[in-house]
Amino acid sequence: MPGDNRIDRSRRAFLRRPLAGLVEARDQSDIKRTRDTAADPWRPPWASATFEDACTRCGACLEACPEGILVKGDGGFPEVDVTQGSGECTFCQACVDACPEPAFEAPDTHSPWDWVARIGSGCLATNGIVCQTCGDVCDYDAIPFAPEESGPPVPWLNPDSCTGCGACVAACPAQVIKIVHHSRHQAN
Ligand code: SF4
Ligand code: SF4
Ligand code: SF4
Repeated sequence: MPGDNRIDRSRRAFLRRPLAGLVEARDQSDIKRTRDTAADPWRPPWASATFEDACTRCGACLEACPEGILVKGDGGFPEVDVTQGSGECTFCQACVDACPEPAFEAPDTHSPWDWVARIGSGCLATNGIVCQTCGDVCDYDAIPFAPEESGPPVPWLNPDSCTGCGACVAACPAQVIKIVHHSRHQAN
C-alpha cells in the first residue's frame, strides 16, 4: 500500500525477477506443464512443480497466512484468492515455513511464481472515467499511467515490474484485473 515500507529495496528487486528465477531453477518440462492449462490454479508462492504430489491438503499454510488469502480450492488443495483477507500476498513465506511436506521450493534460491496482473477491457480510465486506484495500491510501480490527448490517463501493466502480488485485483472498482501466467500476458 502507499507509504508501506514493509518491502525493502533488495527484496523488491528479488521479487521482480520471477521468471528468471523459475527458468534457472526448474526443469523446462515442468514449466510447460504448469503454464499450458487454461484452468491452472493459483497456488501459493514457491509452490513446486510437483505441488499436488507432495501436498496432503492439511491446511497448515491456510492457517499460517497472515493475509488470509489462501483458501481450499478444487480437491482441497490450497489456492490464492485475493478477494479474501487483506487482498494481497506480501511474500512473507509463512505458508512455506508452515508446510510439513516437500511441497515448496526454497525461497532463498527460487522466485515465488511467474504470475503477473493483466488489465482487461472495461477499465474505467480507458472509458473516460478518472481512476488510478490500481496504480495507487501497487507497491512495485508496475502500473504507470499514460497521458491521453482527450480523457484521463490510462493504465498499462509492466510485467517486468509486476510481482503478481494481487493487490490491484481486489482494489479495481471495475474488477477488470486478473492474474495470469507471464507467458499469457505477453501473448495477448
Ligand atoms: S507468502 Fe505470506 S502472504 Fe503470501 S500466501 Fe504465503 S503466507 Fe500468505
Ligand atoms: S499484481 Fe498488481 S499491485 Fe501487485 S505488483 Fe502487479 S500490478 Fe502491482
Ligand atoms: S483500478 Fe481498474 S478501473 Fe481503475 S484504472 Fe486501474 S484497471 Fe482501470
